[in-house]
Amino acid sequence: MKRIRISIDGPAGAGKSTVARALANKLSYVYLDTGALYRTVALAAKKEGISMDDSRRLGELARRVKIRLVREGNIEFVELDGKRIGQEIRTPELGRVASQISKVSGVRQALLSLQRDLASSGGVVMEGRDIGSVVLPDAELKFFLVASFKERAKRRWKELVERGEKVELSLIEDEVQKRDKVDSEREVSPLIKPKGAIEIDTTDLTIDEIVARMYRFAKERESAGA
Ligand code: C5P
Repeated sequence: MKRIRISIDGPAGAGKSTVARALANKLSYVYLDTGALYRTVALAAKKEGISMDDSRRLGELARRVKIRLVREGNIEFVELDGKRIGQEIRTPELGRVASQISKVSGVRQALLSLQRDLASSGGVVMEGRDIGSVVLPDAELKFFLVASFKERAKRRWKELVERGEKVELSLIEDEVQKRDKVDSEREVSPLIKPKGAIEIDTTDLTIDEIVARMYRFAKERESAGA
């Protein structure tokens, strides 16, 4: 049975992280959250006081820092220059900064080889915005998840509230709208449905239903040895 590479792309709040993690578990594959890489570069930029407009320094920073995705048991986290990074990259603010810095081609370029290395041995579920289109255009199985804008904002909001943050839903709606715009209108690697990707509208589906559907496709591809 071939251990394949699975890409999952889609806009913020379409359910990518939750289903990617669950699918990886079910297949005994590795889950790779590429948004965490962009968020970590954003954190590093913030720490160094680099302006979001300074493409040259942002590119240089992304090439210089050492980022690792680490797994300990069921917990994944990021290491930045050998230091463990926690929930501080999960705030709406860091999401916004990540979205800004991810427009810089030097940043994308620096993270490209890292992402390809991470996926090279197969048996991975990699989630992001340009995985099926740019990072792994030859992935054996590609998904594109979508959901209505209202539903996506509600999911993001719930996630934050469950983590103890006090935020207004309307604020998150604005956030999601802005991020959609930046992510789909940027020049380098905009969010698009990758060629050959299977589109799933998750608005009215439960996590289990989505994962079950994806799992069936994955098993088919594995046994086809594709
Ligand atoms: O998925 P997450 O919300 O953690 O991603 C944060 C931001 O990082 C996204 O809004 C997007 O701008 C950027 N990103 C990207 N390409 C990826 C993953 C994330 O541009 N593959």
